[in-house]
Amino acid sequence: MARLLVVEDDAEIGELLRSSLALHGHDVTLAADGRSALDGARTAAPDLVLLDLGLPDLDGLEVCRRLRLLQPDAVIVMLTARAQEMDVVVGLEVGADDYLTKPVRLAELVARVRAHLRRAEPAVRADGPLELGELSVEVGARRVVLHGEEIELRPKEFDLLARLAEEAGAVVTRETLMSDVWDEHWYGSTKTLDVHVAALRRKLGEASGCRIVTLRGHGYRLDVD
Ligand code: CA
Repeated sequence: MARLLVVEDDAEIGELLRSSLALHGHDVTLAADGRSALDGARTAAPDLVLLDLGLPDLDGLEVCRRLRLLQPDAVIVMLTARAQEMDVVVGLEVGADDYLTKPVRLAELVARVRAHLRRAEPAVRADGPLELGELSVEVGARRVVLHGEEIELRPKEFDLLARLAEEAGAVVTRETLMSDVWDEHWYGSTKTLDVHVAALRRKLGEASGCRIVTLRGHGYRLDVD
């Protein structure tokens, strides 16, 4: 059973989120403001945090940054009130793994939570390390080494890089990436894919000889010198 922390100051919405996630077998704790969220994260060590951006005490972005430091392995899904707000938050790259706009569709929420918690099934079927020039992706050990240095990646960043590396030099479509790395029944926005690509590009570095190329409206391609 996964431990979930729902941070939402609107009691009615909070209870709705809590009960639908509990119904799907998760152990859910509810926090009504930023400070209790941080306390809850310290004591309960959640696997996933659903975090509302608009909180009465602390800014949701600040809570996200602090949560990331407290629980580096927790998946953080931010809830934003409007699509425009989501664009701003995504641009800030505060360390969230995913974003959902309100009003939240419960089926979508449950599907996304399941997709994030599903780590046992690797997105890539390769056995040994994928060796591409100076880049080595060790699928079994979930390790990435570039120019002899290990790169720290979030779980979905790793899955995404491994999936692209499996077909390096070829385009992998957005649909394939969403289905293989996240979930075959992904609902709604695929902005989370672009956020993960941006994070990967930053971590791989500009001069690494390792580039993720955007093919607009189609997908992404990993090129390694
Ligand atoms: Ca709120």
